[in-house]
Amino acid sequence: MTTTVPNKDLQRKYDEERDKRLAARKSKDEDFVRIETIINPDELDPYKEVTPREPLHDDVEVTLLGGGWAGLMTAAELRKSDRQLRILDQAGDFGGVWYWNRYPGVMCDTASVVYMPLLEETGHKPTERYAHGPEIYAHAQRIGRHFDLYKDAYFHTRVTGLSWEEDIKRWRITTNRGDNFTSQFVSLGIGSLNVPRLPSFPGTMDYKGEWFHTARWDYNATGGSPDGAEMDKLSDKTVAIIGTGATAIQVVPELAKTAKKLLVIQRTPTSVDVRGNGPTDYEWWDELTSQEGWQQKVYDNFLDFVEEYKVGNYPSSDTVDLLSDGWTMNGRKLAHRLEAIEGDMTPEKFRSVLYQWDDEVQQSIRDRTDVEVEDKATADGLKAWYRAWCKRPGFHDEYLQTFNRDNVELVDTDGKGVERITENGVVIQGVEYPVDMIIYSTGFLYNRNASKDAFFDVIGRNGLKLRDKWNDGMLTYMGYFTHDFPNMFFQQSVQAAFLVSNVPQNFADGARVLRAVIDHTLDSGAEVFEPTQEAEDAWVDHLVENGTVADDPECTPGYLNGEGKREIGMAERRSVGFPAGKKAFFNHVRQWRADGRFTGLNFA
Ligand code: NDP
Repeated sequence: MTTTVPNKDLQRKYDEERDKRLAARKSKDEDFVRIETIINPDELDPYKEVTPREPLHDDVEVTLLGGGWAGLMTAAELRKSDRQLRILDQAGDFGGVWYWNRYPGVMCDTASVVYMPLLEETGHKPTERYAHGPEIYAHAQRIGRHFDLYKDAYFHTRVTGLSWEEDIKRWRITTNRGDNFTSQFVSLGIGSLNVPRLPSFPGTMDYKGEWFHTARWDYNATGGSPDGAEMDKLSDKTVAIIGTGATAIQVVPELAKTAKKLLVIQRTPTSVDVRGNGPTDYEWWDELTSQEGWQQKVYDNFLDFVEEYKVGNYPSSDTVDLLSDGWTMNGRKLAHRLEAIEGDMTPEKFRSVLYQWDDEVQQSIRDRTDVEVEDKATADGLKAWYRAWCKRPGFHDEYLQTFNRDNVELVDTDGKGVERITENGVVIQGVEYPVDMIIYSTGFLYNRNASKDAFFDVIGRNGLKLRDKWNDGMLTYMGYFTHDFPNMFFQQSVQAAFLVSNVPQNFADGARVLRAVIDHTLDSGAEVFEPTQEAEDAWVDHLVENGTVADDPECTPGYLNGEGKREIGMAERRSVGFPAGKKAFFNHVRQWRADGRFTGLNFA
């Protein structure tokens, strides 16, 4: 893998930093605990009281698990066929991650015009190029109102059981609210980064001060509000934030505004490029959105530039870039580079350009750190030494500059992380830092296999547990269906497009597929749809043989590579996207849907 790396010194540095992190790991699998395992999941909502209601004991046509983008986009689509719906969510309202993540500074660093779904249908014009959390959460509620979904929604409702009953050809669903009802069809849209995790270092529960996870922000403790009101309870407090991922880079500038002292505890730096946020330019907006079907057009254009490029699969220099932002411009510039290669493109030439390009992008971000951060040691500490996609790229206009404040200190753990928590604070490399508040910005479980990550068992035909069927990785047809689990649909992207920079876009096509399949089932007088075993096997074989494994063992540990897992097993080889690319996947399913034969599915 290293033979075509243009800059060997740089690669050596990357390897050293990775090995340092690997050596510091306490166990082979990095240890984290789900927050619900230490706090009762029914008491985990700091934002809204639970409203008592009677349990449900009836039968519905379609049940959607999850009221985030997956559930909302699916429900909006199914409304067009006037399906009888039921939407369940653990949260107190629609919004999914945007319900839970109300930390100060929360925003989306993917452009509003592609990130916020159903803008065309609802008529909402985002106020910023990169909308902040409250506007996005309000948009989720807007979708709920626009499509009249609230009447079908049951919040603060956690599924406890989901099993197929062959004799009645229905799914039986039980919940923590005493519900026990049946549903003909079920769609799982349970999210991929929504279960907060805490590192399992000792002492978390011993700490006497206030502590919480960023996805359950405690404004009672900090003061302020998600809308940006000042966190006035921090002025006499020393606050530690653990973690420096995409969440922390948004939180840190806000905490720094009022905390007496802020310790930013870092294990691996994020590479933080310019965001360039600002108010929406409505002249640009009106032009972009003047024709019907504009959001799909922008989706497809975005994909041109954020595809994983392959030989013979990258945009030409005359492809118009409708967004021109951090995500698309890098892709556009890379495409220019590739186009400039003389002679026939070979895999070696291609890889060489990719590495060179990566080196330049990462170096320019490290150089930016020197420009923005006054103290040299701090600037050096904030530099990321890994390839661009080893960790999710970060974008922010204030994060680096925040380290110039007198009340902010970078506590770099040299890749070792926090050792333990005591009654009084945080221990790093044997030194105790006493603090008044600990904020865990330590991320989420990366749910790429719904069977393992759901908090309940999904039981299909003949008592088969999805957890067992998918024990060695997912087995699906098109990422949407799995044999022996009739009338079940997965609103997710693995073994499908695997589009991670703009997650909702996956659900747009998924929703259309589900609507078409349910319509076809019922219109043809059938009760059940299910993929054939042959179709599923062929799909998975094709992906395993040709897919690009996302988990890169050469990278520094992180959730994208199973926290630095060195062996690529079958589960990783099955955790891939459609080999021909994201756009090709969407084209494939559109054709599959349009021709009306639904090849690979049985209807009975
Ligand atoms: P991450 O998993 O990206 O970050 C977790 C952080 O906690 C890392 O910095 C990690 O360090 C650190 N950490 C974990 N364990 C320890 C330990 N024992 N000691 C010290 N530090 C530790 O979580 P985030 O919440 O930041 O982001 C998760 C994802 O959510 C993002 O990648 C993105 O997909 C999404 N997101 C999207 C946003 C958007 O704008 N669209 C905004 C925010 C989040 P290390 O790196 O060394 O593992």
